[in-house]
Amino acid sequence: MAEDLNSRKEEEERVQQPSPLIIQEADHPIRIKDIDKEALKVLYRLRDAGFIGFLVGGGVRDLYLGKKPKDFDISTDARPGQLRKLFRNSRAIGRRFRLVQVFFHGGKIIEVSTLRSQSEYDINGDKHTVLPANNTYGTLEDDAFRRDLTVNSLFFEIENSTIIDYVGGVKDLDKGVVRIVGEPERRVTRDPVRMMRAVRHASRNDFRIDRKSWSAIVENRDKLLLCPPSRIRDELLKDLHGGCAAAWLKIAIRSKILYTLLPFYEELISDTGSGAALGDTLLRYMQVIDRLHNSSTEKQPVVVSDNLLLASLLAPWIHSKFDAKEKLVGAAHHNRSRELRNLLDMAIGERFNLKRAVKENITTLFVNLTHLIRHSEDKNWPKWLQKKSYFTDCSKFFEIYSEVRGGKEIKNLSFREEPIADNVLPPVVNGRGRGYQGVMPTFSSSPGGIFGLRKH
Ligand code: ATP
Ligand code: MG
Repeated sequence: MAEDLNSRKEEEERVQQPSPLIIQEADHPIRIKDIDKEALKVLYRLRDAGFIGFLVGGGVRDLYLGKKPKDFDISTDARPGQLRKLFRNSRAIGRRFRLVQVFFHGGKIIEVSTLRSQSEYDINGDKHTVLPANNTYGTLEDDAFRRDLTVNSLFFEIENSTIIDYVGGVKDLDKGVVRIVGEPERRVTRDPVRMMRAVRHASRNDFRIDRKSWSAIVENRDKLLLCPPSRIRDELLKDLHGGCAAAWLKIAIRSKILYTLLPFYEELISDTGSGAALGDTLLRYMQVIDRLHNSSTEKQPVVVSDNLLLASLLAPWIHSKFDAKEKLVGAAHHNRSRELRNLLDMAIGERFNLKRAVKENITTLFVNLTHLIRHSEDKNWPKWLQKKSYFTDCSKFFEIYSEVRGGKEIKNLSFREEPIADNVLPPVVNGRGRGYQGVMPTFSSSPGGIFGLRKH
């Protein structure tokens, strides 16, 4: 019933939308040559098979802003079954909405989704219900309207190189405004993660958040706690990875989203005594990780691991509880590890659905930081620590800590490790013939699987 009411209200809102704005090639900066060639291949193949296909979402937004898109998503009127036939090296993923991933050599994946009327995350009673097809698919307008932000709801079509704008996204891009599509209050209630997405895109592009969207975020921030913890964690990691973590932190503090995510910071940062200093230290951590991410080049890629990012975000809090310079010998080392582990468990373990190994790794970073700080003068790292497999991670964390405190700039922080995020899919697919030779997915029929993949 509530759902019916929601749908009706959204329908009414949409009726008030003007017909789409079609922006001609001469009036916008996107050129076909700037589009990823594999994305173009998909678009041309769709066209040749008689379907319509559009570049959509972040790809259009970033090209419009003159930035290099991270990925290119495509929307089409072809159904998932038709897409699977059209693209041999592909697989369908997603439970409620089937999305087709097309695989290319070198591991590139282009995601193609059928135009639809609802976001897969819109809260709709039983989360595990697979919507019947006629409830799922929609028109171009529906597809624009189900998206999160106006700047993410633009379509680009390759026949005439035009942008199709149902929601005023081009005007918002021109003015530097992040605006939630539709009625912000309702949209963030139906999928609270949209609040984090609005903050991310504002910080990434140095955009302001429009007034109504801002009020909806400030007033509804605690609804984020209704979302699956792993979704929140993955969104947070994207904020920390993007090279704009400092700008993100400022907006996260102003909107108090930071305090919803990490409640212990509320008291610490707003404390008029030492709060400003602690807030400044946290900002310094974010600036250092931004500097590292932004110094990354193709030749010398900088990869700051998820564990290091989370440890950096937690450092001022942890150090408000435990003295980073304390001498931890013998049993004190183990006791401190236990205390840290318990603290992490209590404060963020469940909230972000962190695996045991992640909590263990972050504990290791903090407990060994104290040893590295104590031996930093002579750089005579303890032999037992140097032999440990985690020594490299610990010394990277020490370097970040030192730069935050005014020490020398870190030159290179490039090392890889397993990402924490669940939604990193293995390369795939078609084991037959000349297709992309990757790992075959292990499909699971259990509802708990991620994108239908079995959890390992
Ligand atoms: P990025 O540069 O980080 O990839 P993006 O905008 O492309 O930014 P994606 O997570 O790749 O972000 O999502 C692709 C598109 O899907 C978005 O541009 C948006 O239109 C839509 N989208 C993503 N998440 C949501 C959501 N929670 N609600 C509605 N639409 C969403
Ligand atoms: Mg994207």
